Amino acid sequence: MTQTVSINNNQRLQLEPLSTPERLLLGPGPSNAHPAVLQAMNTPPLGHLDPAFLAVMDEIQSLLRYVWQTENPLTIAVSGTGTAAMEATIANVVEPGDVVLVGVIGYFGNRLADMAGRYGADVRTITKPWGQVFSLDELHTAVQTHRPTILALVHAETSTGACQPLEGVGELCREFGCLLLIDTVTSLGGVPIFLDEWGVDLAYSCSQKGLGCPPGASPFTMSPRAVEKLQQRRTKVANWYLDMTLLHKYWGSQRVYHHTAPINMYYALREALRLIAEEGVENSWRRHQENVEYLWQSLEDIGLSLHVQREYRLPTLTTVRIPEGVDGKAIARQLLLEHNIEIGGGLGELAGQVWRVGLMGFNSRKENVDRLIEALQQVLP
Ligand code: PLP
Repeated sequence: MTQTVSINNNQRLQLEPLSTPERLLLGPGPSNAHPAVLQAMNTPPLGHLDPAFLAVMDEIQSLLRYVWQTENPLTIAVSGTGTAAMEATIANVVEPGDVVLVGVIGYFGNRLADMAGRYGADVRTITKPWGQVFSLDELHTAVQTHRPTILALVHAETSTGACQPLEGVGELCREFGCLLLIDTVTSLGGVPIFLDEWGVDLAYSCSQKGLGCPPGASPFTMSPRAVEKLQQRRTKVANWYLDMTLLHKYWGSQRVYHHTAPINMYYALREALRLIAEEGVENSWRRHQENVEYLWQSLEDIGLSLHVQREYRLPTLTTVRIPEGVDGKAIARQLLLEHNIEIGGGLGELAGQVWRVGLMGFNSRKENVDRLIEALQQVLP
């Protein structure tokens, strides 16, 4: 072969095989994956239509229904991170002009509102100061006022550490004929969720938090009511990759190619879900609650205070107030570089005011709390 164009070697790095530091990920996510999950991920890939792989997909669907406590037939893992699954919920049920009411209690509520607007929704928002949650009465008044097609709420607001109570909200939505959409990215696996009991119509999550898996395959579910809205659309779903009318032909009985599934991510997710089923989801919730209470006590014992009122605190993510005069960013950096522990800083309104400490999935263990507290004692002035 005669070569007429010379090779540009500017970007041709000569590298050693990948080697990364061993960190304890106690931030808002990702959290450390369970070693068995990483091992499953190393299984050689199968073809995306191989019957052995299709069986893995079926197992994922069933286990997702279990951890979410739903019988929704349309329950799948979206190829992508939590944001892809979030967009899938909006893209499939929002049509131009639909009134979408978003309860904003932090950063991720704003993301939902932004997304719904991009799909042509008439977006209405109600807001709470960051760290607080809506009462059922407040939601009732808002739904009565705005008469939305969809009410969207964040169950576990990662930016604030607050858990939005959902009991009664499903009935409210039925009374006013709207769908209930919830973000369970920071709750699935770590916080009690009863999708069917609560009357939730659309939910999504991620793999990298309470499920103890790397990021990349994200739980998604739609109730029969939401599927009905999808079937009655006047317009095509405006996102080809996330269109459930196409995706369900791959995940359902037809097994039609849609996109090449990230095979190894699905192996990982299957193992993560299998581990929760082995533990029992209610035991996983209990473990998260017990360990976070130990964290709260330990933080208070070293003189730190917590941002969210106890009743509404998440078992998966705690916001810790940065004491007066302390450089929060510098402390987090020291924890990372000197102690190999990652914690998060504040987002949005809480930037510079709080640290965010996650105890999620495989990481929700007492020894991780002890390691963090010991390190904090060394780096705090
Ligand atoms: N929703 C919430 C509540 C989150 O915490 C996150 C991420 O942390 C997302 C959505 C987006 O998920 P991802 O970053 O996996 O795309």
